[in-house]
Amino acid sequence: MYSALSRFLKYVTYDTQSVDRAEQTPSSPGQLALAEVLGKELETLGLKDVEVTEHAYVTASLPSNITDSAKKNKVPAIGFVAHIDTATEVTGKDVRPRVVKNYDGGDITLKDGGGGEKVVLSPKDFPYLADYKGQDIVVTDGNTLLGADNKAGVAEIVAGVEWLIQHPEIPHGDVKIAFTPDEEVGHLAKLLDIKKWGADFAYTIDGGPVGEICWENFNAAGAVITIKGRAVHPGKSKGLMLNAVTMGQEFNALFPPAETPATTEGYEGYYHCMSFNGSVEGATLKYIIRDHDTKKFEERKKFMEKAVKWMQDKYGTDRFELDMRDQYRNMADKVKGHEDIVDLALNAMRELGMEPNIVPMRGGTDGAALSWRGLITPNLFTGGHNYHGKFEFISAQSMDKAVDMILKILELSARK
Ligand SMILES: [Zn+2]
Repeated sequence: MYSALSRFLKYVTYDTQSVDRAEQTPSSPGQLALAEVLGKELETLGLKDVEVTEHAYVTASLPSNITDSAKKNKVPAIGFVAHIDTATEVTGKDVRPRVVKNYDGGDITLKDGGGGEKVVLSPKDFPYLADYKGQDIVVTDGNTLLGADNKAGVAEIVAGVEWLIQHPEIPHGDVKIAFTPDEEVGHLAKLLDIKKWGADFAYTIDGGPVGEICWENFNAAGAVITIKGRAVHPGKSKGLMLNAVTMGQEFNALFPPAETPATTEGYEGYYHCMSFNGSVEGATLKYIIRDHDTKKFEERKKFMEKAVKWMQDKYGTDRFELDMRDQYRNMADKVKGHEDIVDLALNAMRELGMEPNIVPMRGGTDGAALSWRGLITPNLFTGGHNYHGKFEFISAQSMDKAVDMILKILELSARK
């Protein structure tokens, strides 16, 4: 019924993997190629104000079709946002999606290897796969990620507005669309001109399985610790050598072992040493700090400073250097007082018979950054699973449910 699946199968063939620490936006040329395709599609569909920027942002609007002007003014302009890049962990080049029709509930061989590596998507490893028995599942060929994160969101949004254009009898307010680059490398939709775009509030369609909704995410900071050692010939170094490697180990041991990503869940925050590189002469440790609770987050940052101070007091101020920066903030602080935006999505799901699954996100979204910039933007499901890897999959039926949700949100908001 909707065009989400066929659009999705097309979008994933564009290599839009983003590149960490690139100087320019977009970080990879494939994103601009897909942005141009999307701009043309939206124009062909008849959307207004279609714009594709050199930074691979695509914006467009579908004007309200409500004729009664008093009523029209009461209906909000709702934005829908999805990102066009794919994750850095696994390649997004030469994605060959395969649709497993009427899935039988058993193992799906993604790649038989022919003597090489065999890759099997199995309900033994991913028990929730069994829930999709009887559905049509899109999987990878075992070599790449799929890109449902977040091209499923893109396809669902386009399919939603297409449906509205084909069904002018459905009343709706202004619909604003934005497709953004480099979400996976923390670009945070920085170049989206919120005012010009014109949405009163928005949703990212960038979550997981059907029913998932999130308006809480981590507060996040990153810290880089640079250690200066002193190299001396090991045969004559007693009392002279300062080994940056052991100093780094000593530093890392100051952090509680029960507060790491591998030992926490739900609302529990953590310190995470992501990398440790070095030699006697010098070492660099990179950390991320995460907590949903703003007060606890500030305390964690203070603890990081204290730990560095402790080492400086022991080895000298110039031997330990800290560069700590905030990355993104919990959108919950901004959603407070605007619960109606969350309720609108919850009501849409419930009217469609879906069980909302409210998730405190252990990460960030572009919506978190947008919310802090004044545009409240909770995150809603796309229907996908196993993001950022070869086992990523999404069912056609789940994608249609996401389109149902988008349409229902617009329908409910126009019903007021
Ligand atoms: Zn995503």
